[in-house]
Amino acid sequence: MILPKSPRLSDAQVAELTAIVAEFDCRLQPIIGAVRTIYAILGDERDKLMINRIEGLDYVDRVDRIQSPFKLMDRRSDLASHRITMGGVTLGQELFVIAGQCTIDPKNPNYFYETAAAVKEAGAHVIRGGVWKPRTNPYSFQGDHKSLDILMEASNRTGLPVDAEVMDEDHLKMALDAGVHMLQIGARNALNYSLLRSIGKAIAKTDTVVLLKRSIHMGPIEEFIAAAEYIVSFGNPNVLLCPRGTKPGLDGYRNHPDESITPLLKEKSWAPVVVDPSHSVGRAAYVPACAMAAIAYGADGLCIEAHVEPIKGIGDDPKQALNPAALTKTISQAKRLWNITHEVPAT
Ligand code: PEP
Ligand code: MN
Repeated sequence: MILPKSPRLSDAQVAELTAIVAEFDCRLQPIIGAVRTIYAILGDERDKLMINRIEGLDYVDRVDRIQSPFKLMDRRSDLASHRITMGGVTLGQELFVIAGQCTIDPKNPNYFYETAAAVKEAGAHVIRGGVWKPRTNPYSFQGDHKSLDILMEASNRTGLPVDAEVMDEDHLKMALDAGVHMLQIGARNALNYSLLRSIGKAIAKTDTVVLLKRSIHMGPIEEFIAAAEYIVSFGNPNVLLCPRGTKPGLDGYRNHPDESITPLLKEKSWAPVVVDPSHSVGRAAYVPACAMAAIAYGADGLCIEAHVEPIKGIGDDPKQALNPAALTKTISQAKRLWNITHEVPAT
């Protein structure tokens, strides 16, 4: 990772660095931060001669060598000072909340508009709404691209940014063309490296944020962080890690709740952690407790399924979504707990 002396290098300086690293079979990737741009060396960066040549350039402050499978996401990376801001919240400075329906019902758009208004009223910062859905049963409702218009209309009406899952490159293009602010990568696709790469490339020069769910099948924490590295390595560092439960599920819960991995993720990565209690436990009655546990374990945010009338919802909403009263209470308690856990100790 090359740290220049100035906030940004000139085109000629970038060209010079690109040529040097190419001689050693590496690639230069600018990572544009709010304050300054850093330049990652992608490839095997251990060649001492390459490092010496770069450190000899008068516009280079130093080269940081992090021997990590995820050198950009590593907490020792210079990107650790990067801050992600969305819906008026800077992650890490106050509790960040995404809420909304699992699935938008294209036949009943008013439910989504009412849910969006309720989610805003409850104090959330981003509205989620499933447009395309990964369903276990191939004959279940798979989502409908018409729901994209409903999602964007909800954003217009509330003024809040919106989040939707994309499962392939067609969805990705449609979502970006429509102006979706946050792209969700679901638990089934979090290990789909070619999709991760496509998303990384497509958003490289934008401020789009990615919510990367933890795959049901991910074991070691490193696998999760490395999946985020795939996206960030193309230049956009706005990735949030989202634990959402893994397999095998516990009897009575949809998955094995994994909100307790947050401190372990934070030992290794600077990435903000936004826990999804809804898919972790899979039943509305248990979602508030899981949300509180997530905050107690140090989550920066929550992603909660909510519906103005859960029983009328589709997808996961009838069993999993919080109604507006439960959502309001959960967000308000979670914000209080977040503030308590972030109190600066009296000196
Ligand atoms: C969802 O958010 O509705 C969803 C399908 O999530 P996951 O990918 O975590 O199962
Ligand atoms: Mn869902």
